[in-house]
Amino acid sequence: MMNHSNIIRSKSLIRSKFQVILITIGLGILLGIFCLAQFTQLVSFGLLVSLLLGISLIIIYYSKTLYANLPEGIKNNGVWTGTLTGRGVSAWILGVVLTCFYILLYWFPHILGLSTSGNTGIIGFFDPLSQFFKNQPASEWFVYGTLYTLAIILFGIKFIWKYRHNKYQLLRTISVIFFQTAFAFLLPEFMLRLNLPFNDFKNMWPLNYYFFDSWHLEELMHAGNIGWFMLIWGLAMIFLISPILTYLYGKRWYCSWVCGCGGLAETAGDSFRHLSDKSIKAWNLERYLIYSVLLISVIMTVGVLYSYKTGVNTLLGINTYELRKWYGFIIGAAFSGVIGVGFYPLLGSRVWCRFGCPMAAILGIQQKFFSRFRITTNGGQCITCGNCSTYCEMGIDVRAYAQRGQNIVRASCVGCGICAAVCPRGVLRLENGSADISTRTTQLKTIHISEDALRILN
Ligand code: SF4
Ligand code: SF4
Repeated sequence: MMNHSNIIRSKSLIRSKFQVILITIGLGILLGIFCLAQFTQLVSFGLLVSLLLGISLIIIYYSKTLYANLPEGIKNNGVWTGTLTGRGVSAWILGVVLTCFYILLYWFPHILGLSTSGNTGIIGFFDPLSQFFKNQPASEWFVYGTLYTLAIILFGIKFIWKYRHNKYQLLRTISVIFFQTAFAFLLPEFMLRLNLPFNDFKNMWPLNYYFFDSWHLEELMHAGNIGWFMLIWGLAMIFLISPILTYLYGKRWYCSWVCGCGGLAETAGDSFRHLSDKSIKAWNLERYLIYSVLLISVIMTVGVLYSYKTGVNTLLGINTYELRKWYGFIIGAAFSGVIGVGFYPLLGSRVWCRFGCPMAAILGIQQKFFSRFRITTNGGQCITCGNCSTYCEMGIDVRAYAQRGQNIVRASCVGCGICAAVCPRGVLRLENGSADISTRTTQLKTIHISEDALRILN
């Protein structure tokens, strides 16, 4: 039986959902009209700003309805039964729309309006904004970057409302919003305006798989001091900064505080985090796949560098340029984009990070064997509710560790801290210890319970 306040709440939710659907359909129709018609640059700019503002207001209004008026803390109601969050019809529709968008973006941008003789359609619509930032017409990547950044900001606001009881979540959400907006979007666009090479200072090899490509190395080496700085910075990130930070804080410093893929997964993908597969089969697949991708990315990079240095296109019978081309197509586009984001509503938000990202693989190896980061568990307090396992986006059965009082040191853990945020008993703590790196993965904590404290209930 629903009480009175629950009835009012669900009525207000249904009403707001209905309003949001209507407004979204309206904006969709407007978008269609804008894309088909021809406007002056000024009118296009005004329409684009109005459209993006409209979408932003819808998401903020909806987030407020969902979380702001309710008490702080996690609300689990309906995640498995909702049509969007429980792999229902809405989830499939969203999955298909996202997947189609990525396919068009990567392989058929001309359908979105990209043209060397003047953009039209959706891409043309972004021309004035692109001119403002970098004095060039929009590319499909500019459109993507704008929408990507906006999604992280807007769903980041939703995330902050939802997890406002947890300081760790607030700080890292502000961090991913900052790094995406400043480092991945604004700075590279302004650098293009100044005729400098495009560079995302927080992105590094092997996630940035073109870093060692001959055209990229040449571009940096011919861009003067700033180019050399970018090259040295990129190498320092790979060999110095990343290992030190991962030793100190685990892979979370990157995967949950800085990375754009992680940023989108944590914010726009938050509603789907519980969909991650927790089975042993998935864990095995994860280990085979992610280390295979890492191996291929290393072979591909060695091949590309070898060809750059010697001018020979084959190494051990492998055509290095073909390998690079196929890596970009299968891993860089299909896996990270189409499957990685397109399948959020069906497979969870971290499919790419868990099964495919070679960067996550490297950081994970270091996290497991040479890092101070671990999640400590106070097993005596665990009530076996399973919230932690349910919401672990990396498919880790956190509860099993908690019940044994065992520290969690898993290569795949991105340190998002959601398991700790949703635990009703304060069992889990993310810590940077130092003393027990060699033994902690197998060590069990002993739980001492006095005989008096034990009572068998019938
Ligand atoms: S174990 Fe906890 S901190 Fe690690 S990925 Fe899962 S939910 Fe995030
Ligand atoms: S650790 Fe916390 S969230 Fe996980 S099962 Fe135990 S009480 Fe529940």
